[in-house]
Amino acid sequence: LNIFDIDSASFDLNFQSVVKFIHPEDIDHLKNINKKYLQDHQPVAYECRIVTAKGLTKTIFVHSKVVLNTHGEVTGTVGIVQDITERKQNEERLAGERELFRLVIENIPDQIYLKDTESRFMLCNMPVATNAGRASQAEMIGKTDFDFLPAEIAKQCFAEEQHIIQSGIPLINHEEHMHDKITGKSRWSLSTKFPLRNNSGDMIGLIGINHDITKRKIAERELEEANRELTILFNSIDEIFFSVDMVTFKVIQISDTCEKLYGYTQAEFFSNYELWFQIIHPEDKYIIENENEMMRRGELISNQYRIIRKDNNIRWVETKITPTLNKEGKLIRVDGLTRDITDRKNAEAELNNSEERYRKIVETSQEGIWMVDENNKTVFVNKKMCEMFEYSQEHMMGKEIFYFMEDDWKQKGSDAMSLIVAGKGGKMEFRFITKSGLYLWTNLSVNAVFNDAGIYKGALAMVTDITKRKNDEELLQKSQLTLEKKNLELEQKNKELEQFAYVASHDLQEPLRTITSFVQIFKQQYSGKLDSKSDKYLKYIVQASDRMRVLIKDLLDFSRIGHNKDIEQVDSAQILHDVMADINKIIQDSHADISAEHLPVINGYTTELKQLFKNLVLNAIKFRKQNVPLKINITARRKNDHWQFAVTDNGIGIDEQHYDRIFVIFQRLHTRSEYQGSGIGLSHCKKIVELHHGKIWVQSTPGEGSTFYFTIHSPKQKINEAEIKMHNAN
Ligand code: ADP
Repeated sequence: LNIFDIDSASFDLNFQSVVKFIHPEDIDHLKNINKKYLQDHQPVAYECRIVTAKGLTKTIFVHSKVVLNTHGEVTGTVGIVQDITERKQNEERLAGERELFRLVIENIPDQIYLKDTESRFMLCNMPVATNAGRASQAEMIGKTDFDFLPAEIAKQCFAEEQHIIQSGIPLINHEEHMHDKITGKSRWSLSTKFPLRNNSGDMIGLIGINHDITKRKIAERELEEANRELTILFNSIDEIFFSVDMVTFKVIQISDTCEKLYGYTQAEFFSNYELWFQIIHPEDKYIIENENEMMRRGELISNQYRIIRKDNNIRWVETKITPTLNKEGKLIRVDGLTRDITDRKNAEAELNNSEERYRKIVETSQEGIWMVDENNKTVFVNKKMCEMFEYSQEHMMGKEIFYFMEDDWKQKGSDAMSLIVAGKGGKMEFRFITKSGLYLWTNLSVNAVFNDAGIYKGALAMVTDITKRKNDEELLQKSQLTLEKKNLELEQKNKELEQFAYVASHDLQEPLRTITSFVQIFKQQYSGKLDSKSDKYLKYIVQASDRMRVLIKDLLDFSRIGHNKDIEQVDSAQILHDVMADINKIIQDSHADISAEHLPVINGYTTELKQLFKNLVLNAIKFRKQNVPLKINITARRKNDHWQFAVTDNGIGIDEQHYDRIFVIFQRLHTRSEYQGSGIGLSHCKKIVELHHGKIWVQSTPGEGSTFYFTIHSPKQKINEAEIKMHNAN
């Protein structure tokens, strides 16, 4: 009744009255038990919950059995009821704690296991099973490492565990390295194993924990690798790192590369704080001195100066310094980095030199140099350019190119710029106008300037002043025109003269013939019948009329030269041959020795050329020396675009002062009594030579002989072509 919190006086004990205390959830269970044991009469024991009269839930343990009469009929039941509420609660708490413990073990990523004294698994969490390649923990129980690991490793573990069990000394954080066969990767773990004793102090096995440190290991290895690389990097770079304690003035550190740059060792820097300052070039020390103040203010410093190496070589260095100030703002330390920049400095100096050279070239250039930007505005002009335009450099800067052009040239200017922008610059002649309004004719060589992206940025022109040439050309053109006009006039006059000479000589022939005929008749009829004076006069008249006939004939021949213009290929040797045949008698009489060599085939007028040769040979015979055998030699030489002939004699010669005169018509050096002649022969020759676009002249030594030279135009090119054609034809 106490269990049920029932007041004994008022309680009516029967099955129904007890049932109502049973916890509603347990009633069915109880009824089943009751039914069963009323049938099979076997004693029962069970637990169930009750709700007491005071409303408390309790758990009771009931031990019950039926009471039978002699006929074997159930007359009642007898039972013992125990209040096991407290025990039950303890059990539940324990179960809860165990569950908590299990959860902890199961959720820890580390492998946790219990092994017996034979190293057989008694308990383990899932990571242990997974690691052993098993699907559940149950599969591990009773097994040993030999079932999962390679024999070698299992053996090692076994020995280790047996030692722990026997010695009672735990193994703590032992690093193990394994090679995972499945993933092919390395794995590291920290293994801890404790001996396990029961309450009585007997050794019952061990407890083990395996903590995976693979990630940490990999990170460590990577760090190690990075450190190694960093060390290599530090050793390989030429920069020098250094730190100086500014309180004690001691070099705290300096990289050993200092020896390479300065020639002084680390030790030398450590032992002599001032060394770094001592090696600075005396002329550059001021750079450092000026920076002390900046360092004190904590400002970063970057400077360049020269140092003198231990071997006295001078190098350029660049130093960057970071000062450190303490809380009070006092400079306590500087850290810096120094590098050798000698090569860079030399290159810079070389660049400066070459820039200077270019600047000089540009400034002293006798060509104008003119640069414009993409808007055609002047961005640079050299001195020469300014001189050409008569403007100052300042005045020209920023001015558009059109500013320097006359209105009618501006369109040409803009057309030219379009071509240049399209990359089609080049040479061109262009006319500008100078400050004083004069024309400036120029030869421009213009190129477009493009930036790296290929965008047009302007143009650069080299400008040559050709104004003088242009003016000269203009003058020349003018004088050429005048000359041509004069030539035309002259030609016209010549024609008229020739016409006059022709008409005159032709028309004179008729009255002359009449005079000659009548003089002859008169001579026949009256010769000897008149007085001696009259005979003499008659003789003069006959001689004069004969001479006049010759003169008129020569004049007529002269005026006819070139009238019969039929140019043809003639063999000059053949011509000479014909001439010699014509004057054979004269040659015979004079005993002249005439020779000729290499006479070419030329283009010319046959009749006129015969006349030319004839006149020269006849002159050579006529003006021969007495008592000296006459020798005449005729040669020809190829000269550029003409043939040069030479007719040489060993005659009386001509004084130099008469060289020109003798070629003028009717000019003679002798009287007719000395040498016969009309003074027309050489002028005849001159006219013939000029007809062949040639020249005639004489060279002579008086008393020794003369050489008459003349040229006949005959372009080599044509001859070569002719030769080639002939060759091909063959
Ligand atoms: P001509 O023979 O009728 O006098 P040319 O015109 O042939 O007229 O010659 C002009 C002059 O040149 C001659 O009078 C002579 O004085 C001079 N002369 C020409 N040929 C020779 C020569 N081979 N040697 C010397 N003098 C010459």
